[in-house]
Amino acid sequence: MTPDQVVEAAEVTAFWRELGLPGLVDVHVHFMPANVLAKVWAFFAEGRGGRPWLIEYQLPEDERLELLRAFGVRRFGALLYPHKPDMAAWLNSWAAEFAAKTPDAVHTATFFPEPDAKEYVASAVAAGAQLFKAHLQVGSYDPRDELLEPVWGLLAEAGVPVVAHCGSGPAPGLFTGPGPIAEVLARHPRLNLIVAHMGASEYADFLDLADQYPGVHLDTTMAFSDVLEWIMPFPLDLLPRLAAMGDRIVLGTDFPNIPYRYVHQLHALAKLELGDDWLRAVCYHNPTRLLAC
Ligand SMILES: [Zn+2]
Repeated sequence: MTPDQVVEAAEVTAFWRELGLPGLVDVHVHFMPANVLAKVWAFFAEGRGGRPWLIEYQLPEDERLELLRAFGVRRFGALLYPHKPDMAAWLNSWAAEFAAKTPDAVHTATFFPEPDAKEYVASAVAAGAQLFKAHLQVGSYDPRDELLEPVWGLLAEAGVPVVAHCGSGPAPGLFTGPGPIAEVLARHPRLNLIVAHMGASEYADFLDLADQYPGVHLDTTMAFSDVLEWIMPFPLDLLPRLAAMGDRIVLGTDFPNIPYRYVHQLHALAKLELGDDWLRAVCYHNPTRLLAC
């Protein structure tokens, strides 16, 4: 590790030690095949919103793992997602191999609206996948697509949570926003849906969905960070609802694809001043319960 990384690891471990936690559980981290991750990084390098997005942790896979372990991240959702058809099944086999050799990685899988989605999702669940990812903005698909109907049903029945990028931030997609996914929840009210990025930019609407459905959670990924506060600030008047929803919010970070240090996400959560019990629940107890790890 570089001297800067050693310093940061000390800062991150101090954060959870001061809370009396055994470490962190981060539901929203990305590990992908090298060529896919290279494309994601190239996309960010072109800039988002006219500004280049300098990824803090553009490192080889073994160094990224070493860093998460030095941070004391005990379990992490190693998420991946397709942007086109005929890709998800291949990603799922990569993810299964990655999880098999990485004991602290939660075994994840993904899907796309395509004829064999039901079949490969069922296989992934049978093979032990504990978490799914659905990226409605990158995938540009409708979560109400009839090809996904059996997929949502299967995941709801199996109780396997799905991290869904379904909010319209940082850039809207054709099917982002609370409307389409709310229809999925109406049909599958027991679905364990983890709304990525706290639902940015529709924070209040996604909190409403969490009020309505006990399986709806929100991950903190990038929320409250300087970057997201700059482009789509979390409304201060929603803070009391955030406090009340303390059992439904889970730590997520988007490591390694973030333009700031990992510890910044933790400090951004602490700055909300919702108390140590809230931080303990969000950073460890809630994600542990949800991932059954
Ligand atoms: Zn992400």
